[in-house]
Amino acid sequence: MTDPMALPAASVQAHGIHKAFGMRSVLRGVDLEVPAGSITAILGPSGCGKTTLLRILAGFEDPDLGTVRIAGETVASDGVTVPVHRRRVGLMPQEGALFPHLSVGENVAFGLGRADREHARAQVAHWLEVVGLGDLARARPHEISGGQQQRVALARALAARPRVLLLDEPFAALDAGLRVRVREDIAAILRDTGTTAILVTHDQSEALSLADSVALLIGGAVAQHGTPADLYHRPGTLTSARFIGNTVEITGTAESGTVHTALGALRSKVTVGDGPAVVVLRPEQLRVGADGSGSPARVRACRFYGADTVVHVTLDDGTALQVRSPGAPGLDEGADVTVDVVGDVLAYPSPTGRERVSLGEAGS
Ligand code: ATP
Repeated sequence: MTDPMALPAASVQAHGIHKAFGMRSVLRGVDLEVPAGSITAILGPSGCGKTTLLRILAGFEDPDLGTVRIAGETVASDGVTVPVHRRRVGLMPQEGALFPHLSVGENVAFGLGRADREHARAQVAHWLEVVGLGDLARARPHEISGGQQQRVALARALAARPRVLLLDEPFAALDAGLRVRVREDIAAILRDTGTTAILVTHDQSEALSLADSVALLIGGAVAQHGTPADLYHRPGTLTSARFIGNTVEITGTAESGTVHTALGALRSKVTVGDGPAVVVLRPEQLRVGADGSGSPARVRACRFYGADTVVHVTLDDGTALQVRSPGAPGLDEGADVTVDVVGDVLAYPSPTGRERVSLGEAGS
């Protein structure tokens, strides 16, 4: 029996991928580089073409233009289409899509490749062990939880020894509490098995917390591809900044890399030309208190959320801001406070009318 842990992880390259459905252009020149054995998240607003891109990588759709390579071999290009079953790419859908009439073990056995069928029992036991469900082989899908069903689906997908595993919003159907736990479990399994994984999601916290690198798909192309920290701390555009993480925004005027705002002169860590600018602050960069040295403000309202409180304040010039403060800061409505900014900020030229379209429309 071949070493069951030895998955033949492959790299994936997509270059210049275009795809239209009728008159609707969905992908407009997507470039993507996924190193073997890494986890890459494709993050983008609903309808931006994430599933279409996965289907092209798997071979369920042909690109109109562009090239896909897996482990260096061209599998889609002008005149070349390697069929789905020869690409050895696994696809794990949103809901595990287990066969309800088969036991958990039989579902996993269904994924086994020809070479592994001889040792089916040992292989099934192995993959169930890998996903932490060694004692559930005889259970039926309806007898186990949603999170366990997703892990069975992962075991079935891994049992086929894919060179690349594509995961299409695999946690979307799980409730919020379970989702965080299951996604962490699944990420750990993908790392332990050295699987090349491409995960599609519209949930930025999922992408940032799970992936080695994140490709932001906006308007039919990859707007930025980098480590989660790069994307969070140095988004290339205002649209990217708004899509990655929460923002507090104020306007100002940029001059030699410093933006003059109602919160004082703020240094930008990304290059911004002189002129009207939007400053993007991450919520953790703002501090509100009764005795800080920052800009004077007045508390309009406090909304307590348990772990933190959102304090609504108005600066002296009338600018309204919402500041997240840990715990319960004990501030009263109407209290005079100060707002401090911690660290350098992100600043971008003020958007023109065309750029103001919402993220949802950006893909159309
Ligand atoms: P979501 O996050 O909502 O699942 P997505 O980013 O995965 O969205 P896709 O499912 O790739 O987006 O769809 C992108 C666009 O392409 C949508 O407008 C969709 O209606 C359209 N589309 C996808 N597949 C087809 C098809 N086979 N025929 C026609 N239009 C399609």
